[in-house]
Amino acid sequence: MTKFNPNLVILERLQAKLAFEHAISGIGIEVCGILGGQTRGNVTHIHAAIPVVNRLNLPDRFESDPASHFSALRIIRANQLEWVGTYHSHPFSPPIPSKLDLQMAQGGGMVDLILGFIDGELSGRFWDFCNKRPIPVTLAGDRFGPFWEIIS
Ligand SMILES: [Zn+2]
Repeated sequence: MTKFNPNLVILERLQAKLAFEHAISGIGIEVCGILGGQTRGNVTHIHAAIPVVNRLNLPDRFESDPASHFSALRIIRANQLEWVGTYHSHPFSPPIPSKLDLQMAQGGGMVDLILGFIDGELSGRFWDFCNKRPIPVTLAGDRFGPFWEIIS
């Protein structure tokens, strides 16, 4: 079995927009969510960015609220997608993994999106935490709507 060595993320534009809006809505508090999609070889295609409650409610770290996390996972599965990654925001720093982020790395098979500030602008960057390197991303068209609005 070949080691997961992500070399490209394809992100649906609408999901990028939703994750950015979620980060902005945090107003100084880290937000987090999970990413649903498909991984084929070393390419991860993301079709869903679903918010999860940060139960710590702090500006510099997050911990997923379990009930909220499982309900997001159910949405991903109900849409025949896989859990392929996680996103979180850095309200006061660039989208570069903190020491804590690297310690929390789930190890293999996941991509991590960080939304943080560069020169006052909110920016997103994908990371392979295990290998401590950024992953290139390309935006794709919108084939799906926001999942959590179409599922009750
Ligand atoms: Zn972080």
